[in-house]
Amino acid sequence: MTRIDDLPVRDELRGKMPYGAPQLDVPVRLNTNENPYPAPEDLVRRIAERVAAAARDMNRYPDRDAVLLRTELAAYLSRTAGLPLGPERVWAANGSNEVLQQLLQAFGGPGRSALGFDPTYSMHSLIARGTGTGWISGPRTEDFGIDRDAAVAAVHEHRPDVLFICSPNNPTGTAVGPETVLALYDAAQRAAPGPRGALVVVDEAYAEFSHRPSLLPLTEGRPLLVISRTMSKAFGAAGLRLGYLAADPAVVDAVQLVRLPYHLSTVTQATALAALEFTDTLLSYVEELKGERDRLVTELRAIGREVTESDANFVQFGRFADAAAVWRRLLDHGVLVRDNGVPGRLRVSTGTRAENDAFLDAIRAVTKEIS
Ligand code: PMP
Repeated sequence: MTRIDDLPVRDELRGKMPYGAPQLDVPVRLNTNENPYPAPEDLVRRIAERVAAAARDMNRYPDRDAVLLRTELAAYLSRTAGLPLGPERVWAANGSNEVLQQLLQAFGGPGRSALGFDPTYSMHSLIARGTGTGWISGPRTEDFGIDRDAAVAAVHEHRPDVLFICSPNNPTGTAVGPETVLALYDAAQRAAPGPRGALVVVDEAYAEFSHRPSLLPLTEGRPLLVISRTMSKAFGAAGLRLGYLAADPAVVDAVQLVRLPYHLSTVTQATALAALEFTDTLLSYVEELKGERDRLVTELRAIGREVTESDANFVQFGRFADAAAVWRRLLDHGVLVRDNGVPGRLRVSTGTRAENDAFLDAIRAVTKEIS
């Protein structure tokens, strides 16, 4: 049998594993930070209508620049994120993973490096690897925040071409304030290895779940600051694959140099436009999920677990002498959570009230079993 290592793959891919949370068929799946609410029936009908209309034009390539969709995404951000902007400042792709990949294709690459604060979203370093960009691991505090001075020092030491700030951060749930982002932006520009500065990417995949306002207004007057967003979480549309960014129009022009032509299918654009028509309904689900997230934090603390502050739709909890064993026991109780490899900690996504109750019953039982 031929194995990957028998193939002439690039050296940096040898012996590596692909990204992959287990997709197991268990009653309560709280491991991938999905939104637990399926699309409401009237949205499903609207998607069918819009996709049917799009299907009549299927012989044609889609709108290559997705102008209508970017206009609606810009309107959504203008309404909810504190900065009026137009479609020239928004770009969309197949999930924010593709947005991040396009950013590294344009601003990273061989001989360049990206810095992120670990533990953080593992795809940042994996996309760096896939684009030939070096990865530098920056520091977090004991409670998984970003210490401004330590972070600025890391930027000065390593002089990255691209800086990732994930806020709220996956897998910890912690958010950073605007002062820290501004200090890091200034440090990244001062320390930049080239004369034209460094790109700073704020990954706001979970922004709608945060107690804090979006960092989007900071992009005003800062041409190298990018905000990355997704419809996978707040819009309950992980299956759609639609991510987007907001930045200076020049950054939008730059990613167009690397994007594949017609990357967003007609069906994707039609479905995303339908979901955006239902923004208010979908954001009302987000409000319910925020309440459930806060309930998980309170209940976990009530049974003596150590819980990291969360601004996302998931909660990091511990500490366990053997987190992998607790993960396994929870699975025996029919509940799938995530072991991100953070020592002594596990992560649970916020589910429906019933799913969260099932998780809380299971973790109470497991806590008794191991104590
Ligand atoms: N950023 C962060 C921080 C995430 O946690 C995720 C998904 N888990 C993504 C980006 C990518 O999401 P998507 O590609 O579905 O937009």
